[in-house]
Amino acid sequence: MNPAEPLLTIVIPCYNEEDVFLETARQLTAVLNDLAEEKLISASSKLLFVDDGSTDRTWSLIVMESTKNQFVKGIKLARNSGHQKALLAGLDIAQQKSDCVISIDADLQDDISVIREFIEKYREGYEIVYGVRRSRQTDTFFKRTSAVCFYRLMNRLGIPLIHNHADYRLMNKRALKELSRFNESNLFLRGIIPLIGFRSTKVFYDRKERQAGETKYPLKKMLSFALHGLTSFSVAPIRFLTFVGIFLFLFSGIAGVYALVQKIFGTTNAGWASLIISIWFLGGLQLIGIGIIGEYIGTIFTEVKSRPKYAIDIDLYTKPLRRHHQEKPRNKNLS
Ligand code: UDP
Ligand code: MG
Repeated sequence: MNPAEPLLTIVIPCYNEEDVFLETARQLTAVLNDLAEEKLISASSKLLFVDDGSTDRTWSLIVMESTKNQFVKGIKLARNSGHQKALLAGLDIAQQKSDCVISIDADLQDDISVIREFIEKYREGYEIVYGVRRSRQTDTFFKRTSAVCFYRLMNRLGIPLIHNHADYRLMNKRALKELSRFNESNLFLRGIIPLIGFRSTKVFYDRKERQAGETKYPLKKMLSFALHGLTSFSVAPIRFLTFVGIFLFLFSGIAGVYALVQKIFGTTNAGWASLIISIWFLGGLQLIGIGIIGEYIGTIFTEVKSRPKYAIDIDLYTKPLRRHHQEKPRNKNLS
């Protein structure tokens, strides 16, 4: 049974977020304060900021804030590992001390007033609560349409994505434990979490504009994220290629017979046009095919290496104000 006053940790990945950090910390602190005062969550609930190798003042702001604000904790990754990995690092660490964890972006585009609803659902016994955007009016036209196409494609391929849900969600300890058993390096959390199963529900909200700073997901990162999502969840594109190949093979057989018949009974011309068309067509098709297969090989390549997904440089959450590598002096047991 869920505890009456669960210890909540809100995990917030931050990459060069010096413009929004203080405001975000202020607003989330207010939320935690209110919830703790109403005894909906434990008073030792925390905000865990994960600095994803920022090159600006983000980390020093986190450290400064953590000395003033009892709710604020931080971990610093050794380098920029990307949003999904930063988030996972935060979830892994937060899970050790929390009954439930909420993940949210640092720019507060997701409405923090529904955190209360998250907690209510959790107390009703739900293990995963998805925050779902009611509308995407504040996103650019491009981002909106590309997102719709992406979700449609993924659903067609049978990947159970929750429509209009990004990484704003609550998970309880049990769900987080299950999540840590997924060992993939190409993380696509919003695809993996529905696979966990468990009792889940949705909470709806309106997505706002970014508070300050600019998006850390430029087009290139967005495309690569979408491609990873696809190739780490479905082999349908490879299968599709096989079918195209079979179809073309049969078709070229028929065309061959036709050409032969023409040759024997009719007059053939130089055939330059058909030749050049097929060269381009087949060449293009082959390149697409090789590209798609390459994507999968790339995915397999990174998976088999199973490199660690992130490295934590400093951890102020479980080990306050101490550096990892200073804990154990080297050669202590050697003599
Ligand atoms: N982020 C991160 N590492 C990165 C890129 C982004 O931790 O390499 C964080 C970023 O600080 C923010 C969240 O991921 O908290 C989502 O990024 P952003 O709001 O820029 O994406 P958008 O909302 O534009 O898709
Ligand atoms: Mg954002």
